[in-house]
Amino acid sequence: MHIIFLGPPGAGKGTQAEIISKKYNIKKISTGDILRSEMENGTELGKIAKQYMEKGELVPDEIMIKIIENHIKNLNSFILDGFPRTLNQALELEKITKIDKVIYINVPDEEIKNRLLKRGRLDDKPEVIENRIKVYREQTQVLIDYYKKKGILYEIDGMGSIEEISKRIESVLINPT
Ligand code: ADP
Repeated sequence: MHIIFLGPPGAGKGTQAEIISKKYNIKKISTGDILRSEMENGTELGKIAKQYMEKGELVPDEIMIKIIENHIKNLNSFILDGFPRTLNQALELEKITKIDKVIYINVPDEEIKNRLLKRGRLDDKPEVIENRIKVYREQTQVLIDYYKKKGILYEIDGMGSIEEISKRIESVLINPT
């Protein structure tokens, strides 16, 4: 199964992708984790990514698409966490593979800010958070409609305990169609 996890920053995509990935033995590809690991290793890609990530901007599509292409090659099943984030990324993804289900984790704005402030990652500073939310609204939110029209969007209430949310996601993944 080819799955996308979609939602605002701080929605819990990464946490849930990790849980589902382990439980069902589906490979998880988290673009944020990939970029952070490149940064830690001081690679060329990491240096480029850093300039965007520390401002809460998106890393250019061409770079992200290449990363995804390399990672999904030869995989029968995967969960994408953090990709696509723009319509262009979604269109390019379609040329490489077919997506079965998009899990959209919905969390209200106020809750998002609280969660990110608590998390305290390098790009979780108040100004950067504001910009990431803005970028999400301007560039990523259109994907909700895009996948809804294709009939493959499944909206999950992202409020509740981690376990409750995993159960909601599992019931969507287990159900046929
Ligand atoms: P969150 O889950 O809080 O949104 P991520 O770890 O997914 O955070 O992403 C952190 C940052 O990595 C983003 O703000 C962006 O700069 C960069 N990034 C991750 N995925 C992508 C992508 N698909 N396209 C462009 N930039 C990305």
